[in-house]
Amino acid sequence: MLQHIRLPETGEKITVEDGALCVPKNPIIGYVEGDGIGPDITRASMRVWEAAVELAYRGDRKIHWCELYMGEKAGALYDGNYFPDETLEVIQDLTVAIKGPLSTPVGGGFRSLNVSLRQALDLYACIRPVRYFEGVPSPMRKPEEVDVVIFRENTEDVYSGIEFPSGSSENEKLAKFLREELDVNFELDAGLGVKPVSAARSKRLVRKAIQYAIDNQRRSVTLVHKGNIMKFTEGAFRAWGYEVAKEEFSDVTITEDEVWDKFGGGIPEGKIVIKDRIADIMFQLLQLRPSEFDVIATTNLNGDYLSDAAAAEVGGIGIAPGANIADHVAVFEATHGTAPKYSNLDKVNPSSLLLSGVMLLKYIQWTEAAELIENAYPNVIRKGRVTYDFARLMNGAEIVSTSDFASAIIDEMRS
Ligand code: NAP
Repeated sequence: MLQHIRLPETGEKITVEDGALCVPKNPIIGYVEGDGIGPDITRASMRVWEAAVELAYRGDRKIHWCELYMGEKAGALYDGNYFPDETLEVIQDLTVAIKGPLSTPVGGGFRSLNVSLRQALDLYACIRPVRYFEGVPSPMRKPEEVDVVIFRENTEDVYSGIEFPSGSSENEKLAKFLREELDVNFELDAGLGVKPVSAARSKRLVRKAIQYAIDNQRRSVTLVHKGNIMKFTEGAFRAWGYEVAKEEFSDVTITEDEVWDKFGGGIPEGKIVIKDRIADIMFQLLQLRPSEFDVIATTNLNGDYLSDAAAAEVGGIGIAPGANIADHVAVFEATHGTAPKYSNLDKVNPSSLLLSGVMLLKYIQWTEAAELIENAYPNVIRKGRVTYDFARLMNGAEIVSTSDFASAIIDEMRS
């Protein structure tokens, strides 16, 4: 029995059969509008998604939305609980959901709601497509060469939160063990953290990245790591990545070394190249030679930095879409925060959430609707009808509100 969530009376649930998503013509999809600017960008984006679906399928398909609660709205409804269990249960049950940004109350021992959500549903792959839309202000000379999809491991590495503060009894115990049993040394007052990277979790992430490359006709998967220094965590991630490719995808993949050793540098028809790069040089390469990269799979902290750095090349996090995905359950999300000073002003750029919805439409294979938005989007930017954040980077642009930007995209799709 649900306390506050009301499943729509019409619409059917998305299911998983034989390992594949089964999407009805009238799927129920969950949404969390989010805090701060969340309601503004959700309202605007929903109008665009619905218009695209209507235009693409002429009434034959329709999304039935189910509002779910997290963050401040949940706190008001569920007696101060920002993270109600029933929201998690319904996301799991509906398989696909989209969410606006959530504020994490400062102090009081609150964990980030986003991190909690990823952990509770084991959404192990954080996926960030980074591509350029013509007209978007960019610091790059050739931003059109940037078209990568970053798969960042979401559950391990330094984000697993195994840390012991300097001076604590736990720290003392661990320090004693490390010194006495493992003969390692470090400063007496050092804070200590553990960086777990496992074979199973590395492999499932790389498996998903390779499968994505296959499904989307991508040319390469680059494993990004710092294995030259952290051999048994980052280096192991690299080794396990190559292992998955060899053991499970040998018919469609080839390593970069094989391309050179056996084919003189020419990539055989139909093969996806598996290569690896050390994280530091990767940051440089992604700026200087972005066209060499396609799908990227990496550990948590590298992926954290790399996703935002890559997004900056094509317009910043204001437009970067994202998703956190388990084997099937997927939560799409705006990648920026709640920007509370702009709450309810109908002012900010809805692009991050809007384009996360495009990812969602592709995930449920409603590609025609997704492409309508993707095609209309750059035309609106090119015409200079943009929100304040883009306008300040462009010459002669007309500043429009969040809702007018959405209307401009809808008009463009219909024209
Ligand atoms: P933020 O909300 O992302 O805002 C920082 C600045 O980024 C804004 O002041 C604004 O810049 C710009 N910005 C963000 N979204 C924009 C949009 N849609 N359109 C145009 N500009 C946009 O970061 P924050 O101030 O550090 O964090 C605020 C709250 O959000 C915190 O409670 C944090 O925990 C939370 N947060 C949530 C998520 C999430 O739910 N995924 C992610 C990050 C942070 P200007 O001031 O220059 O206009």
